[in-house]
Amino acid sequence: MSDRVEFGSWPTPVERAPRLAAALGLGAGDLWIKRDDLTGLGGGGNKVRKLEWTVGAALADGADTLVTTGAPQSNHARLTAAAAARTGLGSVLVFPGGPGASHSGNLALDGLFNARVVWAGQVDAAGLDEAAREVCARLRASGARPALIPFGGSSRLGARGYERCGEELRGQVPGLDTVAVALGSGGTMAGLVTSLGPDAVLGVHVGAVAEPDAAVAALTDADPARLRIRTDQVGAGYGTLTDPVRAALKLAARTEGMVLDPTYTGRALAGLAAAVASGDVRPGERTVFLHSGGLPGFFGHPQAPAFAESAADPAG
Ligand SMILES: *Cc1c(COP(=O)(O)O)cnc(C)c1O
Repeated sequence: MSDRVEFGSWPTPVERAPRLAAALGLGAGDLWIKRDDLTGLGGGGNKVRKLEWTVGAALADGADTLVTTGAPQSNHARLTAAAAARTGLGSVLVFPGGPGASHSGNLALDGLFNARVVWAGQVDAAGLDEAAREVCARLRASGARPALIPFGGSSRLGARGYERCGEELRGQVPGLDTVAVALGSGGTMAGLVTSLGPDAVLGVHVGAVAEPDAAVAALTDADPARLRIRTDQVGAGYGTLTDPVRAALKLAARTEGMVLDPTYTGRALAGLAAAVASGDVRPGERTVFLHSGGLPGFFGHPQAPAFAESAADPAG
């Protein structure tokens, strides 16, 4: 099991964020940002830690092509393509829908990394998995050796990357009370829960999976009844930019010069703000916001250009 490949430089930094802390209603010294947007490979983000393990296993198995799935603006798919380039493998990304809807953000980077994109049409989660298995079967039939990297990189093996991140955090912010993190496929929260315990991790569901608690519980031995999960930030669905998230993006940018993304980190901050407002996270508690990356997703979001207008409006 020691087949990890190193893609980043560890530990990632933690930074204080006193202006954001005060704006949220915390004490100025209560909030740290764990900069997992600075994980190095391929534009960075949380998927790099998971890929160190899953790609390590693929290399040990003799794979020559990485295959994975996700939404078209998937940060995980982009970073799988980058990991393939770094290790001299090919990559195939299987997305729902068809070509043409968007060419920006992560999709532009996927092409830059020389990933082949396969459009699976109108499929649900099970249909997308099925399409990826068919891609693997076709690759095998043509003599290739594909490795299927799980959705979001989230398996028990991938989650080990965030178990290690939790260990880093224990040293960087001794006595931390809460780490707030976006919950997509669940491996990031699960790994943190494994090393820090369920009481110390606040997951903010983004709407990427149907049952967020089950997704996390399947990837850790911690008591599922004790998981702290907020489901109040999904809005009309995974791809929508909600008003609380729009406010959170502006708040991070205008207090700390920190860029979040509309899908994951913006929801995580909106969820942390709601947790402070409801008293679930209190002033005086040592709080970490895990910045999990996602900047290309900002540029890939259809509503990103709307932020340009606030610069033209002094009152905006
Ligand atoms: C995938 C992703 C997450 C969520 O991580 P999971 O392990 O899938 O729950 C959070 N932030 C960003 C930017 C991501 O791309």
